[in-house]
Amino acid sequence: MEIRATELGNTRIRQKRYHDGTLRLVAEEGEELTVVCRCDRSHWLATIQEGEGGPFLTLVCHNCGSRFGLPYVGAIPGRH
Ligand SMILES: [Zn+2]
Repeated sequence: MEIRATELGNTRIRQKRYHDGTLRLVAEEGEELTVVCRCDRSHWLATIQEGEGGPFLTLVCHNCGSRFGLPYVGAIPGRH
């Protein structure tokens, strides 16, 4: 489903993947989300970072530069 970035709140994400260049996030409950920015684009740079409260996913819009952070509960790439 499509969701506005402003409506994500603290949705917990367990996976990110790209489909034809469009970012899809998989929520903890298994729902697949296409995130739409307030500029109506959905081209995001998504990075997983380690925060003090645990890993989080940062989304930065390629078009307007809006940033969002979400709790990340999935596997961390490169960590064994
Ligand atoms: Zn944007």
